[in-house]
Amino acid sequence: MNHKSIRVRFAPSPTGHLHIGGLRAALFNWLFARHNKGTFLLRIEDTDVERSKDEYTKALLEALEWADVISDEPIVIQSERIQEHRSLVADLLKQGKAYYCTCTTDDLHARLKEQGHDVLFTKYDGYCRTRNNQQGAVRFSIPDDITSVEFDDVIRGHITVGRDQLDDFIIMRTDGTPMYNFVVVADDAFMKISHVIRGEEHISNTPKQILLYHALGYELPIFAHLPLILGPDGNKLSKRDAATAVVDYKSAGYLPDALVNYLVRLGWAHGDQEIFSRSEMIDLFTLEAVSKKGAIFDHKKLDWLNASYIRNTDNHALLDRINSDVDTGFSKAIARWSQDQMNALLDMYKQRSHTLKELVQQIVHVASLPREYVATDVAQWITPEIKNQLPEIAALITQHAAQTDQAAQAIKDWCKQHNVKLVAIMQPLRIAMIGSSSGPGVFDLMAVLGTQETVNRINALINYLNNERSN
Ligand code: GLU
Repeated sequence: MNHKSIRVRFAPSPTGHLHIGGLRAALFNWLFARHNKGTFLLRIEDTDVERSKDEYTKALLEALEWADVISDEPIVIQSERIQEHRSLVADLLKQGKAYYCTCTTDDLHARLKEQGHDVLFTKYDGYCRTRNNQQGAVRFSIPDDITSVEFDDVIRGHITVGRDQLDDFIIMRTDGTPMYNFVVVADDAFMKISHVIRGEEHISNTPKQILLYHALGYELPIFAHLPLILGPDGNKLSKRDAATAVVDYKSAGYLPDALVNYLVRLGWAHGDQEIFSRSEMIDLFTLEAVSKKGAIFDHKKLDWLNASYIRNTDNHALLDRINSDVDTGFSKAIARWSQDQMNALLDMYKQRSHTLKELVQQIVHVASLPREYVATDVAQWITPEIKNQLPEIAALITQHAAQTDQAAQAIKDWCKQHNVKLVAIMQPLRIAMIGSSSGPGVFDLMAVLGTQETVNRINALINYLNNERSN
């Protein structure tokens, strides 16, 4: 890429939690910077004082840190630059490239109506351009020779916007607050941004910003607008379709690398590859491979990816993640288990969990006596005959208490001798151990829980069955 040095930015407004579309925009900027040995920057756009909150700035930074998408230079806080913004507005006023406007919306509507336009038509008519007002809101004066604004978007190709779609927009409110389109240009130029990579919803702002670049005498950046993230119905993803805040994925037990891997495929592809390490993403990522088409959010695929990342993460790292992201009471809940047992439980359940939350629930569940037994499983598997044989099985296990594999062998031999199918014993034993007939292998469970705990659980089930039948 033969542009000056590559500098990109993610510029969230702290008016809510970082959403997954925001994280995807941050990620694409970050990957583009890394791929091109450039610089990734972060700017907090907090000029909307009414809607911006410090707690959201904090949350945005935490979410980005969690995802390991981190600014290479100190973060720029937009509101701290307000004096620079105001003095740039003053320059434009001085040069006659902007003017004060005192029209209210009602004034404008009344005039437009008079001119025969319908009220929905709210383009400013330039009334104050020649009034020489000394106060009011400041409007940018679109130069008379402009007939259209054109630019080449790296993703969307050549874009032309006619003069008729633009009006003298406000760049600073009457109260002296500079407006979004103005501060973005001022700050992007200040930060020497070479490429503006952001969501498609900003495409309509780009022509206005280009006009401002020209008016302020700044070199234009290259623009790239990322496709929308869509819900299953093809409309813009909303809270009804899926959780949209990154923090919700964190607390539900999605690993940051899994979420990032999922997001990189929303609008970008490398053949049909699905799993990418960070370094692979960096090697392969180009804006040219970003699609124009909206990307549909597929929760099943995210779960599949997360399950795969969980399976491939070592237990120590999983425990750290569980403790930091999901359930801080977890260590306490499983305190009576040894390190080895904990490892065995993690090995067993990480094969069958889509999220860390699921993993925690399953481990907490297996770590204590079943609180209840699934009635349909009990009805299906525990015949009166098997019920009567359970004490015998418990006794067998006690006999071979020292070695769980010997206890397992003894159960298999017992089945052969008594002409009982292994499954007819395994299912009741699984119900005894975890309350249901679906779950990990019975002998694996026995190896983790130990023979004593297994026998305790068989006895608890027998008790339950006796009480139930006498009720
Ligand atoms: N602050 C804007 C937003 O959160 C982004 C501005 C931009 O990327 O140009 O949508």
